[in-house]
Parts: sequence; structure tokens; C-alpha cells
Amino acid sequence: MRPSLRILTAAASATVAFSAAIAGPAAAQSAQAPRVTAIHVDRVIVGDGTQIADAMVIVRGERILDVGPASTVRVPAGATRLDLAGYTLLPGFIDAHTHLTSIDNDGGDLAVLKETPAHGAIYATINAKKTLDAGFTTVREAGSTDFVDVVVRDAITRGLIPGPRIHASGPALGSTGGHADVNGWSPFLAVPGTGAIVDGADAVRKQVRTNVKYGADQIKIVATGGILSVGDAVGAAQFGMDELTAAVAEATRLGRKVMAHAHAGDGLKAAVLAGVASIEHGSLVDDQAISFMKEKGTYLVPTLIILEEIVTDGARKGVPANSIAKATAIAGERRVRLRAAYQAGVKFALGTDATSDIHGRNGEEFKYMVDILGATPMEAITVGTMNGATLLGVERELGSVTTGKLADLVAVKGDPLRDVSLLAKVSYVMKGGVITKQP
Ligand SMILES: [Zn+2]
Repeated sequence: MRPSLRILTAAASATVAFSAAIAGPAAAQSAQAPRVTAIHVDRVIVGDGTQIADAMVIVRGERILDVGPASTVRVPAGATRLDLAGYTLLPGFIDAHTHLTSIDNDGGDLAVLKETPAHGAIYATINAKKTLDAGFTTVREAGSTDFVDVVVRDAITRGLIPGPRIHASGPALGSTGGHADVNGWSPFLAVPGTGAIVDGADAVRKQVRTNVKYGADQIKIVATGGILSVGDAVGAAQFGMDELTAAVAEATRLGRKVMAHAHAGDGLKAAVLAGVASIEHGSLVDDQAISFMKEKGTYLVPTLIILEEIVTDGARKGVPANSIAKATAIAGERRVRLRAAYQAGVKFALGTDATSDIHGRNGEEFKYMVDILGATPMEAITVGTMNGATLLGVERELGSVTTGKLADLVAVKGDPLRDVSLLAKVSYVMKGGVITKQP
């Protein structure tokens, strides 16, 4: 025991020395009193459905020290003042479904044969910066082969590259022939899946353990067919109840939540009944599924922008014709069903399924929520902030402009309650008390 403990300690102090060396001036600064910033704005949208007019927010170090009407908040002596007349301040946005490691390739079903984990790491570095600049200070990665999302998360946490706080999944769990598999090729070719292909409850359990072992913050499982896949119907169930139950039980035992890709049908309901935290996409969620989701408190992450754009812009983006046909066939019904779920009171979190040119345009999802779900701009903001924080289990630290929480803040010019599309034009971004974007 002792020698290995000593090795661990040595390794740990080496890491500390290494990060201190990289941090340089920042580390020196932290020895002094933390920086205090007083931000004066036209309004603060808190994230819980309320707003404060003519507001002052005091940020001390990485946290919010105070927030309230400018007439009542005391500005500490020596604070740096930031006067944002005409602006609205909001909590950092949360995208509960991203693919930062996705590669901007030439599309088509040959892409998988050309990609390497190194591609994923390079593209994720670029996409992470775009996402943070769009005001999304936290994201939940929805599956990354080879754990590239874990590596990128840790690089951002250490301050090596700019980017949002990442909740990593590692490889998504999929079944043989399912949405995470790559189908249509000769059985004599070993074509890798886009996730971990596992069959049977024991294999599912082992993969959950493996993902957690290598750093996953949550588990992604593919419960039904998909749109960007060949040879599977959108609503087809792709795991048995025993496998889904095993995934949730094992993840829960290890303190992790499960996010389930599911578009419709029995596969979606099975995932809900197995106890997953969220249904991703939920395109054709039916009335029975809606009642199950309300009963179980399951979130729906509707990924509106990607599914709308596959229909309207898929051909230009190089989306295969088969996928465009699948998306188009369900587009009208999808809008009706997702709106029904929202209006029935199912809990929603914002998710874009960001891939290709959607990275950095995540804020456009707010307008889709208003247009398609019938959400008010205020509700859409709550969905994209506090609801996301609660789904990710970080509601005590993030999701609202509240005293004591981490100072992840964004500012947009104008009033997004009058024009929700302003949320896609973020001017200022602060993450953990540090301004990462300004005009
Ligand atoms: Zn996805």
C-alpha cells in the first residue's frame, strides 16, 4: 500500500506544480485578495423565471457576492466597475446535448472510415471556444468515442484551452445494428461503431463501469433508432428492458445519471420506465410517454435546431439523402408532439445536438423553443439555464444569477424578453468570474 500511496502523492504534487507553472501570473494573483467586479445592467434575468430591473451584480473571485436593484446593492471599495447600459445580464447558458468532438468532415457514410481520435480532439478545441463565445458556459457531451470529451474537459478545467464546463459521457452505449453502430457494410469488414456496441445486461454493466472508470460524468445510451443512421427505424427499440434497467442501476450505484437517445415508441417508454434522467430528441413522444415522463420527472431535451436544419439545410450540409428523408418524414408530427409534451408540463432542458456549423450557434435554439414549443422567452431562458443545471445535478452552483453561485454570466444588448433571437448574439461572457468574451 505505502509505495503506491507515495507514488500517488508524488504524481499529485507534480500535477499541482505543473498547473501552477502554466497558470503563472494568475496563480500569483490568487495569493492576493480576489478581484471584485461590480456590473451594472438594465436588467438581470435570474434564471428562475424572475427578473430585476436596473440591477447590480457583484462578483468576487469566481462567485457572485451579491445581486439586486442597483439602488440597494452596496459596491465594495476598490471594485472594478462594468457599466453595461442597454444590456441584459443572464446566467451562463447550458446546452445539455452537444458533440464538441464531432468532425466537420465531408459528410456521407464513409466519414467514419476517415476519422481518428486526434481529429476529434482538434475539432473539440475549436468547437469548445465557439460554444463558450456563444454564452454556453456549461455543456453535456452526448457521447464521444475514445473518451476525447474527457480529455478536452480536463484541458479546459486546467485552463490549457478556453471552453465551457464539460460534463463528459465517454462512448455512448449502443446495440449491435443500432443507431450507434455503423450499418450497411460487408460483415467481413470491421467497421467501428460511433459508440460502444454492447449486447446483454452484463455487457451494458461492464461498459457503464468502464466509462465511469475513465472519467464519464454521465452515461449516454441509445434506446431507439435514429435519423443519422442507416438500417434502423426512428422509433425502433434497440435495447431490452433488462439492458436499460442494468444501465440505470449501475450508473446510479456509481453516482451517475443516464441520458437516453430516444425518438419514439416502446423504446422511449422503456427508457423512461427504466429511470433515465432525460430523453434526448423525443421526436414522436406520444400521450402515454408524456404521462410516464411527468410521473417519473424525466426531462426532455428536444434538440430542435438540428432536426429543423436537417430538413431545411441538410443537402447543403452534406447530410446523406437517407437521413434527410427520415427527418423530413417526421418533421410536422415532431413539432406537434414536442409542443404537446411541453404544454402538458414535461420538464425540458435546452439541447442542440451541436455538430458541424451549429457549434457557436447554440443560442438559436431559444427561438426554436418559442416558435415550436410555444414557450415564452422567459420560459425558454429558464429551460436553457436553471433546468439544465438541475438536470446536470449542478443546480447549487450554476443555472441562476444568485448570491453564492459561480459567476457564469452572459450579457446581450437589448431585451431578450421582447426579442428572443438576441440570445444568439451574446456580447459578454464571464466564466467563474473571468471575462472570456467582450466586444
Ligand atoms: Zn446527439
